[in-house]
Amino acid sequence: MSDPAGYGNLIVYSDGAYRRYDDARVGLLTHGLQYGTGCFEGIRGYWNEDEKDVLLFRLHEHYERLTNSARMMLMDIGHSVDELVEISAELCARNEFRGDTYLRAIVFKNLETIGVKLRGIPDTTAIIAVPHKKYYEAGNGLRVGVSSWRRVDDTAAPLRAKVTGLYANAALAKSEAEMNGYDEAIMLSHDGHISECSANNLFLVRNGVIYTPDPSQNILEGITRRTVMDLARQELGLTIIERSLDRSEAYTADELFFTGTAVGVDFANSVDGRPIGDGTMGPITRKLMALYDDVVHGRLPQYRSWVTPTYARPSRLAATAAR
Ligand code: PMP
Repeated sequence: MSDPAGYGNLIVYSDGAYRRYDDARVGLLTHGLQYGTGCFEGIRGYWNEDEKDVLLFRLHEHYERLTNSARMMLMDIGHSVDELVEISAELCARNEFRGDTYLRAIVFKNLETIGVKLRGIPDTTAIIAVPHKKYYEAGNGLRVGVSSWRRVDDTAAPLRAKVTGLYANAALAKSEAEMNGYDEAIMLSHDGHISECSANNLFLVRNGVIYTPDPSQNILEGITRRTVMDLARQELGLTIIERSLDRSEAYTADELFFTGTAVGVDFANSVDGRPIGDGTMGPITRKLMALYDDVVHGRLPQYRSWVTPTYARPSRLAATAAR
């Protein structure tokens, strides 16, 4: 049962080469597995039917964040951002994906050794691309509960780094939420303000104004968060206020929505059993969701620089023409 999803024959990138997934396995005592010493990114590719291409969303921003994560965790990716962008698109092309895609990029301490430390252990950078499956089955909005697990504080570990080990915190919160009958958890920071959900950022709307926790609230500064903030300001002319938010502000919001690479934009229909608005998708969420969908599919020319094509990229076209 080690490969229930059937990943074995995928082509992945690992330690400087394209390999079969099954040929790129790691040993049981690997440092990154034992101690959670890895940094990662989740990235989406969206199938554009007209262009017959997989468009990879904001690759540069993801790899800049991975580079910063690695710096904070004393790791060496061994590639520039531009190289990682090129490898990612090439990987999708080699797998001949013709549909929505999810990429997982990871750099981790790769030595079978016992001892908690960061220095003196070699790093492996790997990128795995798989066909995308939907994150939530919902569609009618999510039932959200405030978690009893507080979000890890930046005084405990660098929260701007997407560190694999830190996701034990997120997994506890998400599992608690599910065991209590919710779909997703809101995590509070140590001082009791709203931080974010298990793997997405949170926004609320009150009287036509959008509020979201500012970066000092122990949030991961999401790329979807930034994207949606740009779209709300530039395309809808809305005001966004970044500040600390109280739990009771979530209870009385007109709309509450989340952003994240995996989920895109989705909304909460209730928080701790209290309906948000009338429990259906609000008008601002609806507009942002539609805009986001257009942007990720490359349909808005002004945001076209945010997507990288898999098949119609210059290096691939040149290689094809030279054959
Ligand atoms: N917060 C956490 C803890 C996350 O893991 C993610 C997913 N990367 C996000 C927020 C959303 O970030 P992004 O929009 O960059 O995916």
